[in-house]
Formats: sequence, structure tokens, C-alpha cells
Amino acid sequence: MSQHVQVDAPRWTVLKFGGSSVSSRERWDNIGRIAAERAGEGRVLVVVSALSGVTNELQAIAGGVADARERVAGLVQRHCVFCTELGLLAEEVIGERLQVLRGLLDDPRANVRSLDWQAEVLAQGELLSSTLGAAYLRSRGLDFGWCDARDWLLARMLPNQSAWARRLSVSCHERSDADWRERFDAQPAPMLLTQGFIAAHPDGGSAVLGRGGSDTSAAYFGALLDARQVEIWTDVPGMFSADPREVPQARLLSRLDYAEAQEITTTGAKVLHPRSIAPCRDARVPIVIMDTAHPELAGTRIDREGQMVPGVKAVSQRNGIVLVSMESTGMWQQVGFLADVFELFKKHGLSVDLIGSSETNVTVSLDPGCTLVDGDVIASLSEDLSQVCGLKVIAPCAAITLVGLGMRSLLHRLSDIWDTFGRERVHLISQSSNDLNLTFVVDEAQAHGMIPKLHAALIAGGAMPVEDERVFGPSWTDLQGTASMRPPRWWENERQRRNLLERAALGTPAYAYHLPTVRARARSLKAVGGVDRCFYAVKANSHTEILRALVAEGFGLECVSQAELEHVFTAVPGLPPEQVLFTPSFAPIGEYRAALQRGVTTTLDNVEILERWPETFAGHRGWLRLDLGRGEGHHDKVKTGGKRSKFGLPLDRLEAFMASARRVGFVVDGLHCHLGSGVDSPAHWRQVLLELCGIAQSLGGIRSLDIGGGLPVPYRAEDAPFDVAAWEASLVAVREQYPDFELVIEPGRYLVAESGVLLARATQVVDKQGVRRVGLDVGMNALLRPTLYDAWHDVVNLDRGHGEAAEDDATGLFDVVGPICESGDVFGRSRRLPADTAPDDVMLLADAGAYGMSMANTYNLRPLPREDVLDD
Ligand code: ADP
Ligand code: ASP
Ligand code: MG
Repeated sequence: MSQHVQVDAPRWTVLKFGGSSVSSRERWDNIGRIAAERAGEGRVLVVVSALSGVTNELQAIAGGVADARERVAGLVQRHCVFCTELGLLAEEVIGERLQVLRGLLDDPRANVRSLDWQAEVLAQGELLSSTLGAAYLRSRGLDFGWCDARDWLLARMLPNQSAWARRLSVSCHERSDADWRERFDAQPAPMLLTQGFIAAHPDGGSAVLGRGGSDTSAAYFGALLDARQVEIWTDVPGMFSADPREVPQARLLSRLDYAEAQEITTTGAKVLHPRSIAPCRDARVPIVIMDTAHPELAGTRIDREGQMVPGVKAVSQRNGIVLVSMESTGMWQQVGFLADVFELFKKHGLSVDLIGSSETNVTVSLDPGCTLVDGDVIASLSEDLSQVCGLKVIAPCAAITLVGLGMRSLLHRLSDIWDTFGRERVHLISQSSNDLNLTFVVDEAQAHGMIPKLHAALIAGGAMPVEDERVFGPSWTDLQGTASMRPPRWWENERQRRNLLERAALGTPAYAYHLPTVRARARSLKAVGGVDRCFYAVKANSHTEILRALVAEGFGLECVSQAELEHVFTAVPGLPPEQVLFTPSFAPIGEYRAALQRGVTTTLDNVEILERWPETFAGHRGWLRLDLGRGEGHHDKVKTGGKRSKFGLPLDRLEAFMASARRVGFVVDGLHCHLGSGVDSPAHWRQVLLELCGIAQSLGGIRSLDIGGGLPVPYRAEDAPFDVAAWEASLVAVREQYPDFELVIEPGRYLVAESGVLLARATQVVDKQGVRRVGLDVGMNALLRPTLYDAWHDVVNLDRGHGEAAEDDATGLFDVVGPICESGDVFGRSRRLPADTAPDDVMLLADAGAYGMSMANTYNLRPLPREDVLDD
């Protein structure tokens, strides 16, 4: 390995960027900056994952889903759109690769889904991301070469490995010889880009390193190149004492040694693939974990000098654990009982992870790494085992592990931990012989919400020595505070808090809408250059005063039903019909007639309507809603494009529609497209506009192009507000290319979501088997979004002065629920609220101005909330 290398050989730094770090132009700019900086210290190898979500799609395709072709088309589209966002010509840069991807569906191996074919399919994600990334970095003037990881990493066949693992979860050779190293160094570019996750198979073709395996690719390269260090760049600023998305109080682990880091990753911390530690440890290469969005933060360093500080460093959880409990009287007298039993596990290709035993029982957990744990294997194992002993399979379970040096000497500090677990049924406790971990196995359902409690108890009881700065850094919340970009909301001051408490005193539940916020959002959009007309999507919130405020700001109104049309004309007397759009979906034909009679611009989205009711549309003008073949947005249910969506005319019906319109005498003078809601990439609208411009030019006669709405709002503290300036720049660029069309937008949520809060009162606070719940006097009937879309709304206790943002000791974790008889009636789980939250407290659900009241109903005969409008 490295000892063959001459001393003056250049020193490499390996940088690995994960899925979320390679999925936006902004992140690629960071990659370029970071790589160029490291290049000052030697040579740089950048290892990348596939764009986020792509491997999931490829895995489904490799698994033989019925709609594989559509999914491939979706992937093609996604990569082409991303190329455009990067200012690259997709055909030129990734045309051939996309051809290969499509070709894999027609490969004869696809019929049998052979393992080598599956590996080939899975490999395409990283091949695509690295190819377009290299092209982009070069276009920014950086001297980047591209190399195929399969020329450098070779899968290693291990004894007793299943055929599956030998193709789809491989380990690689981690020692290089002088020849390998010389050839690698001979690549001319000072910076190289390659793929994570893939390697060459000794029998030919590709092999993959298992899900999350790009980290391990980087580690192999680090070892093979005897790198200065391996840097894992991801979406959190390091490895934390618990998953920071679940435990905001989790502390950054600034420094760890390989053994503790290994234990933390093996027992569940997804931030680093467990197999990535050994190659670096053996080659003595440090690993550093950093945040691509915040390169200024120091991150976690894992090396040999990691301090030997006793105490719990992390608590993590693995789900989907299968326990096999075997009963037999007097088993310890039976020589060879365990040998017989384990022989059966081996026969079924299962390896065992944890073991607990007593006089009459042996309970084991199956190694979660062995992906063959499906029902069939367990059933046949059970059948064999039942010949030898009594048997119970317990699944799904969760393994909760405390990791840290000197676990045995800490037991006296764990009394609160025993207390927490004491209330649950613990199936198995296992202490590792290296004294680094203590694992508890409980039912998965019972593990819910336990990690934050354990974490708090570990700190409170002194078992997690967070004051030791050699290991522990700031909490995630602290780091977020420095990184958070969401400005304070209108109600986050003492005057408004009092104001809202007064409103609540008049009765709850009640919505309160802050008109100055609505106006501020409206003005920010009206100021956008390149947009000619703005319409407000009334369905988000049709309160009369909001409609009036928006019309006064120069907005038109977009309606989707006759009732909405009638409402807006009543709410805003004198509203000219040309300031109203009608964009219905599958509405009764009478509603179209009513809209046309009023002179409202009406949008159609299918041929059938024209053919069935030609006389309704004859002699009228209107717009056509197109489906560009894909949907986007914050949840599947808000995607409004693609084959599975009911909205829009697919492009393959465009000709038929235009022919029918000509026959009927319906003049199409506008195109409309809205593909989904809560889309956060400005490039989305630019792409839609570009496509609409192209179509409009080929059709002729089109004046207006409506690119819909869907602008996101920062519901969570860590969400950045929508970058209106970047959005404007991207639209202006297209307008310059196509100046002849009028550009129309129709946002809803963006204008009103943040202006609204829902005020409620706590009804009961109940502790049930370790889960603390606070009930409200309002439920999913009044705010459906959490139930419908798993949507996030901050919850704040207005009476006790501090809400989720607070992080003092006075906080506790609560599930926030409503009074509706539905198990889905939950506003949020494990929410941080004042520990003394009590019945009658006034609670606020934030950012509820859009799709709150407008979706509310009287289910369970609960009355609708009152609506108050605040104007200062
Ligand atoms: P990438 O796509 O960059 O490989 P991953 O999603 O694989 O990123 O890993 C990063 C995620 O790991 C974080 O977003 C975080 O939610 C999760 N995670 C789980 N446990 C931990 C932990 N102990 N410390 C940091 N992150 C963790
Ligand atoms: N793209 C692969 C996955 O999603 C490998 C990785 O990202 O680490 O599993
Ligand atoms: Mg990962």
C-alpha cells in the first residue's frame, strides 16, 4: 500500500458529497469552492452520490416494479431539468448516459432481473450525477477531470457471502500497489471527480457497495491513496449525540476515535456508513464530517488521537429488528444445543447480532445488515427451529443503543434510563464485550419518542459528559441558531402575544390573519421584474378582507369553482371580470358556462369537454392547461402533473386539442401550467416557462403564459425563506429570450400562509406509557394539513411564554393532538413545549393562513373556528 509510494508523491484529499449535497446548483457552487480551496494543499478527489432520491427510484426499477418505464422517464426528465438549472445542454452532457439507462429496460437480463443487471441499473445514478457535476464545475472554470470508479475500486469476494451480497453489497480491496498509485496519480487534472457506491466486479460488470455506500467508496479511496484526510460532506454539520432531526438538543461530537465512531455508526447513526470506518482506521486516515451548506462550521473529526473520555457519547436507534426467542427446559445441560440452533440460522443464510440467554431461554436478534430477512426465510427458519425448541418470533422491534467508552463503570449513572425503559417491555438487553455499548430491544411501537427522553435523561444524570469540550460541541439548535435564516414571524413579540391572548379570551378555536403580512408578501411578488400579472389562488384562503387587501395590491383572483367565482364578485364589488381566472378541474359544465358568461378567463384541460359541449365554447377565448409530464412539490398529494395526476392536457394530446378547438371555434390565447405546490427550486418555474415558451411559439396565437403558483414558505425553523431574487433572475433570463409573451403567476400559499395562526386551548395533558400528549380544543377538522400531508406547523404555548424555539430546562416533549375521533388527529409528535403546559393554556399553531380554514369542516359536529383579521 502506501509504503510503496515515493515521499514526494502528491498528497490527496478525498471529499465525498452525499445526495442532498449534489442536488442543487448552489450546492455544486459550494463543492467547487471547497474543492478549489483543498487543491491549495495537494490534489483533490471528489466522490459523489446520486441526486437525492434517485437511488430509491433505481432500486424500485431494479426490483421489477410495473411502472419501470414511467420511472425511467421521470429520472430522465429530472436529470435534464437539473442540467438546464446548471446551464448545461442535457443532450450533450448526459445524452449517452440516459440512452444507457433507457436501454437497460430492454436488456434481456431485465426479464430475470439478474443480480449483475440490478447492479448496472443501480450504478446509473452516480454515473449521471458525476458526469453532469464534472461538466458544471468545468463550465465554472475549474480544472476537473472525471474518472470511472470501476477502473479503480475492485469488489472483494468474501467467504460465506451470499450471491446477493457479492453483487449488491460488496466490500472492496483497500490496499494499492505502486503501479495502481502511479496510474492514479498520472491522471492529469489536479482535481478529479468520481462516483461513490460503485465498483468493478471481478467477474465483469458493476457491483455496488450497499445503500449509503458512497461514504465507504470515499474511505476506500482515502486508504488506497493514503490521503491527507477523507471529508464526508452532508446535510448536517457533523456526527451528533443523537439524530439531530429527532433530538434538537443533540450535541455535536467534535472529536471521536475510530472505535467509538464505529460503534455509533453500526448502531444506527445514518450520517456515516458503518463500513467506511475500517479502511480509514487501518490506513490511519482521519475522517471529517462537514455540512455542505455551512462549510464554515468545524464538524466532527475521527482519528487515532480521539480523546479517551469515558461516558455516553451517543444514543441511536435501529428499527425493523427481528427477535427470535427460543425456549427449552434444561438447555444448558444439552451439549451442543446452541451449536445445533446456530447451524439452522446458517442454513437459512441468517447471521445473528445480539444474544441474551437464561436457564431456559435464548433470545437472539437477526443481523439487520442481512437484507434477506423477509417473511419466507423467517417462516422456514421457524419451522426448522420448532423441531428443536419452543419458539417465538417478535417483530418489528427497535434496538436502542447507548454508545460510549467504559459503559460498565457508568451503570450507576443510568438510573433514569432504567426508569424510562422500566415502563416499557424490554425484550433483550445486551452489553458489548468491548465495553462500548449497551443495547435495549423493545417493540418498535414502544420505541416511538423514546430517544429524545433518553438523551435528556443521559445529560441530566451525568452519564453523557456534555461539559467535556474535548468531545462535545454545541447543540444542533445552537448551530441552527447561527445558521437559521428564517426571520421572526409577526406574532413573535410581546405586543402581538398579548393581542392574541386577548383574541383567545373571546373564544377558541379561532384563526387570526395578519393583513400587513399578506400585503408584504404581495408586494414582494409585485416587485418581481418579468412578471406581468399576478393572480391570487383564492382556494388557499377566501376570507373577504384578504381578497380585498390583495386586489388593492394589484392582484387578480383565481377561482376553481362557481361558488368561488360568485364569492369573489360579492366580496370585491366592481371587480372587473378580466381580473379573474377560472381554472376548474372536472367541474360540472354549468360552471364553465357561468364563468364564460361573466367574461372570466377560463382554462380547459382536456379534449373531451370540447367535443361533448362544443356549443358552450364556440366563439369564446380561453386558456389551455398543460401537463408537462411530471409533478413536483412537498408531498405526493400536492403534485399536479404526470400520468397519475388528474390535471392538465398531456403534450401528446396537444394536436388533438388544437384541432378540436379550431373545429369548435374556441380560441386558445393562453397556456397554463401548475405542476405542484411547495417547490423550492427557482429553476422549476424557469424550466416550466421555457417549455411553455417553446410550445407557444410552435402553436402561434398565444399571448399569455401562466406558470402557476406553488412557491414554498418556511414552515420549519431550518427552512430558508424562498429566494425571490433568484427566482426573478431565472424568469427574467427567459423573458429576455422570449419577450413577446405576457407572464402570469397565481400563487396562493406564499401570500397568506405565514399571515395566519390558529389559536386553541389545551384541553387535557395525559401521560400514557411514557408518551405525553397535550390535547387541544381543535383538531384535524379545522387544520387538515398535518393529517393529509404530514405537514409541519410550529406549535407554541402562548401562555407560558416560550414555545418550540425555547431550549431551556423548562421544556418537555409532547405529542399535540386534537379532539376528533380519528387516530390521524395529530398536529405534531415529540414537540418541544414548556414542561408545565396545562389545560386551558392558549396554544398557537403557526403558519396556518393557507389551506387552514379553507379546508376546515365540521366532522364530529365540531364547529368551525372563528376568523379574526388583524390590521396592525
Ligand atoms: P448523505 O446523503 O449526505 O449521505 P445521509 O442522509 O445518508 O446523507 O446522512 C445524513 C443524515 O443522517 C442527517 O440528515 C441526519 O438526519 C441523519 N443522522 C442520523 N443519526 C445521526 C447522528 N447521530 N448525527 C448526525 N446525523 C445523523
Ligand atoms: N446513492 C446511494 C444510496 O442512496 C449511495 C449513497 O448515496 O451513499 O444509497
Ligand atoms: Mg449517506
